[in-house]
Amino acid sequence: MPRTHYKRCPACTTDGLVATSNPSILDCRHCHGLWFEDGALNRAIANKHTDIDEYDHEQHLGPALRNSDRLCRRCNVPMIHYQLLENYTTEIDCCPRCDGAWLDKPEVDQVMHSPRLKQALGNLNKGVNWKSWLFQFFTAMPVEYNIRPHRTPWVTRALLVICGLVYLAGILTPAANEWIFTNLGLNSNTQEPTHFVMQLITYQFVHGGLMHLAGNMYFLWIIGDNLEDALGHGAFLALYLFAGVMAALAELLFFDSAQGPLLLVGASGSIAALFGLYLMWFRHASLTFMIVVYQKKLAPHWYFLIWSLINLFGMFTGQGGVAWAAHLGGFALGLLLGYLLKDYVHRKNPLIAMLNQPEAVLRR
Ligand SMILES: [Zn+2]
Ligand SMILES: [Zn+2]
Repeated sequence: MPRTHYKRCPACTTDGLVATSNPSILDCRHCHGLWFEDGALNRAIANKHTDIDEYDHEQHLGPALRNSDRLCRRCNVPMIHYQLLENYTTEIDCCPRCDGAWLDKPEVDQVMHSPRLKQALGNLNKGVNWKSWLFQFFTAMPVEYNIRPHRTPWVTRALLVICGLVYLAGILTPAANEWIFTNLGLNSNTQEPTHFVMQLITYQFVHGGLMHLAGNMYFLWIIGDNLEDALGHGAFLALYLFAGVMAALAELLFFDSAQGPLLLVGASGSIAALFGLYLMWFRHASLTFMIVVYQKKLAPHWYFLIWSLINLFGMFTGQGGVAWAAHLGGFALGLLLGYLLKDYVHRKNPLIAMLNQPEAVLRR
């Protein structure tokens, strides 16, 4: 069949279509949408992903919704609106006759990444099962549902190892324990300025007991990998340590010195800041919450709201032994930084940006 290259754009109906470097793909000079001649869309998607040889987007499309008011530029018949994926509500137009497809400009990236989106949404939308139930019932820790990181989380692993080693060194002998607490823990009585500044960093690696260590390290493990992937190794480490410093300062600010010097240990403040970042960037993730025996997936904002309320309650009822102000200060800092860095993280991580769109359908 001879090709008739009509220039009429299906969306803005101007004669704006011009061929790109790929003759099967046309670009509209006016609205910047793209027209794909039959098969060109599949080839373009396959080219985008090194692990895919052949792709047929029609096998992955969600339901046909209705006739579109746009006409195919070749066949002059109404195109059909399809949902891009079962769990992603972006709509694209396909011609029922010639398999041509039209993408508005904002849809182009979503469609090109649709194999990744589909895979990610499949993982995110998995339900709780007997394994996740058993895990949370016996450990009282949440199960995380999130995308798999691209980069190996070396910084997260190193932080885990250092905290573990410091803890192990402390249980060897009482003298070692004493030395670690006095020298590496943060002590508001420390006179020497350089030692005090050093303690602002080192206290983050000291833990008061096995449960304190295990709780902190578990959260670092499940959310650190995604944050490190989103930020890059160096920025993640800098942010983690900075948050720990600020959390300690928050605790010092609210500390009543009449009760004797403040001795602060633990990664809780730094990890609370990670909670804030996580809430701002991973709207699509879920953490499970267990009410007696009923396990439910919660969005991060619900999960961390409950966590904050528990902390506020602890702070105002004055329960000792937990650094409530460090927790809440770290969390507030994380929220602020998460908000300020959100656009940067989305630019660097298109998949995260797409999953944060309202088009992503999440089942909890
Ligand atoms: Zn146009
Ligand atoms: Zn057509």
